[in-house]
Amino acid sequence: PITVVGSINLDTNLRVAYMPKPGETIHTKEMYTAGGGKGANQAVSAKRSGASTHFIGAIGDDAAGQVMLDLLKQEEIDVSGIKELENKRTGQAFITVDEAGENSIMIHSGANNAFSKQDIQKNQQLITDSQCVIAQFESPIDSTLEAFLIARKSDVCTILNPAPALQAPEELLRATDIIVPNETETQILTTITITDEQSMKQAADYFHHLGVKIVIITLGSKGAFYSTGKETGIVDAFKVKAVDTTAAGDTFIGAFASQLRPDLSNFVEAIRYGNLASSIAVQRFGAQPSIPFKEEIEEANK
Ligand code: ADP
Repeated sequence: PITVVGSINLDTNLRVAYMPKPGETIHTKEMYTAGGGKGANQAVSAKRSGASTHFIGAIGDDAAGQVMLDLLKQEEIDVSGIKELENKRTGQAFITVDEAGENSIMIHSGANNAFSKQDIQKNQQLITDSQCVIAQFESPIDSTLEAFLIARKSDVCTILNPAPALQAPEELLRATDIIVPNETETQILTTITITDEQSMKQAADYFHHLGVKIVIITLGSKGAFYSTGKETGIVDAFKVKAVDTTAAGDTFIGAFASQLRPDLSNFVEAIRYGNLASSIAVQRFGAQPSIPFKEEIEEANK
């Protein structure tokens, strides 16, 4: 199995003709709610790609929390590691997309910010029973670090998606086997400006010096760069018409992780699978609704 330690949000998506100015009231053209949060998206992607998936995270004691818990249960994700926190709100994102496809997002982190190291320790068996653990930066860093240290002790592979872009403590990078940033996140973590493959190699070396085994920089419509220190390359993206890139990175990571062998030897093949899964997701609207199932990915591969 795969364990995801991370965030759970209920997304409210609004489609508008244009973004309202301060003081202005406008009507939306469409509104829908859907499951989101980087952690939950990655778990849904891993599960839909065929991996048995556990989740460790938190919701509040509100209706949004029940909606999200039900969605994750419907996916047949193991939700035993999800804690309901009293007097907290479940994470929620309010996403507005205008006609040009430009978006503006407000996030209330709520319960996502409030699960502790102790909550991780209580669920350590979920981690030690797994082949790998995946985490992002929408949860407390201390809790993520605790999860990675537990994983390390049991030879469980650790995958870090350092998103949204933040500085990370070196200790966390030292406990990371595979790091999967996009270009912006790479620049913030390494202070190296990503222009060409040479700069990607330099950025990768920054992570390798801290002990990271595999560096994967996702490049949007250009696919993904990888480095092991010895070997580097680019796995091209699939050419598709993107309509909404929300959760592209999350879909990539979950699908990628679902294919990894315990010895990580097939990681280039797993990157190609991640590219394929996310190329399907960008052709659909929303976060979790856009994430493809194994059968769809296999069909697209024919
Ligand atoms: P993030 O969404 O985290 O910023 P990226 O934009 O790098 O991440 O996208 C993640 C992955 O999604 C890419 O590596 C690629 O495989 C796929 N992807 C993203 N945008 C497109 C696109 N326009 N066409 C095809 N694939 C895409």
